[in-house]
Amino acid sequence: MMIDYNKLRVRIHLDNLRHNYRLFTDLHDRVIPVIKSDAYGHGLVEVGRALEAEGADTFAVGFVHEAAKLRRSGCAKRIMALLGPVDDADVQALWDHDILTPISHRAQLERVAEAAEKNGPLAIGLKFDTGMRRLGFLPEEVDEVAALLKGTRLTPVMATSHLASADVPGREGEVALQAKRFQACLDGLARAGFEVEANLANSAGGMAFEHCRLDSMRLGIALYGCDPLEGNGPGLGKLLKPAMEVSTPVMQVHPLKKGESISYGWTFTAERESMVAIVGVGYADNYSRSLSNAGEMVIHGRRAPIRGRVCMQMTAVDVTDIIGEGIEVRPGDEAWLLGGPGANPITPEDLAGWWGTITYEAFCLLGQNPREFL
Ligand SMILES: *Cc1c(COP(=O)(O)O)cnc(C)c1O
Repeated sequence: MMIDYNKLRVRIHLDNLRHNYRLFTDLHDRVIPVIKSDAYGHGLVEVGRALEAEGADTFAVGFVHEAAKLRRSGCAKRIMALLGPVDDADVQALWDHDILTPISHRAQLERVAEAAEKNGPLAIGLKFDTGMRRLGFLPEEVDEVAALLKGTRLTPVMATSHLASADVPGREGEVALQAKRFQACLDGLARAGFEVEANLANSAGGMAFEHCRLDSMRLGIALYGCDPLEGNGPGLGKLLKPAMEVSTPVMQVHPLKKGESISYGWTFTAERESMVAIVGVGYADNYSRSLSNAGEMVIHGRRAPIRGRVCMQMTAVDVTDIIGEGIEVRPGDEAWLLGGPGANPITPEDLAGWWGTITYEAFCLLGQNPREFL
C-alpha cells in the first residue's frame, strides 16, 4: 500500500484466493503462487500467509528484495525470485534469505558462482528464453551452461521458461513450439546429469494446455480470480472468484439539468434532466483518467455510468435511473469501482475494458490504496 490520502477501501477476500488456489491443487500436485508486485496489489505478506496455510510449498515473486521481504515476514517455504539478482545486494541475499532464483545469462552465472566460492554451495534455477525474448539462456546454449556449472558450487534444481501467448485463442502452435524448445533445454540438462523441476505454465498455459503443466505451474492472475482465457478455455475459468473489491464514498448528489455540462472541459452534456453523484475517487488514486465518459460504478447494486472527465480526486456518475427506481442515493453511500453488491458487480474484465488495459494492471494500481483483508 502506498496511497494514503483518500477514502478508498480495497477489500481483499482471502477466502476467494484460497478457493481459487484449491481449484488448481485439485488439478496438479505443485502450484506455485505468483505473488510478485505485492501479489498483484493484493498484499505480498497477507496472500503469502493465506496460501502457506493452504499448503503452498513454493512462492514466486519478482525481484530478489521482494523475496527477502517475504522471508523476513516469516514465510518458511521455498521462495523463488523470478527476475534474478541484478546487483551485489541481491546476490548476497540469495544466501542470507535462502532464495531460489533462475539465472538467465552468463555474466550473472559467473557472478553468483564467484559469490558461492565465499558463501558456500547454492541451489539455483535456470531460465531459458524459448521465445519471449526477455530474459534467459537460449536453448542452443544449454550444453555450454551445463559445462560452466560443472566447475562451480551451484546446483541447478529448477528450469523455467515463460509462454508468450498462452492466453490468445488460436495460438496453440506457438505454445507447442515454445514447449518443444523448452523440452530441448530439459533434455540437455538431463544429458549433463542435472535433475531439475521443470515449470513453463502461467495461468493461461496451465489452464489451456495440459502438456505445459510439467512438474509445477506458476499461477498468478487466476489465483486473483480472473480467467485469462476469458471463457474460451476449459471449464475452470467460470469457477474462479475475484479476490479484490474497491469502494469509495459518495460526496454530494445533485441535479444536472438537461443541456448542462459537467467536469473539466465540459465533455459531457446532459441530454435529459439528470441526477449525478460526485464520488471520492480520481486518477491520483490510480483510477485512470481514461475511464472518463467510459466507465461505470455500482451504487446500491445498480450501475452508474461515469459522466465527464475523471478528476484528480473526484468522479461524477449518473444516478438518474437508480433514483428513478425509487432508491435514494445520499452522501456517504458506497460507490463501487470494482465488485460491489447486487446481481451486476463490476468485474475486473469490465473495469480493464473501459480503462483500455488488462486486469493485471488494474489490480496492481488499485491495490496501492488502503486495503483490508477479509
Ligand atoms: C507473472 C508471471 C507468471 C504468472 O502469470 P499469470 O498470467 O498471472 O498466471 C508466471 N511466470 C512468470 C515468469 C511471470 O513473470
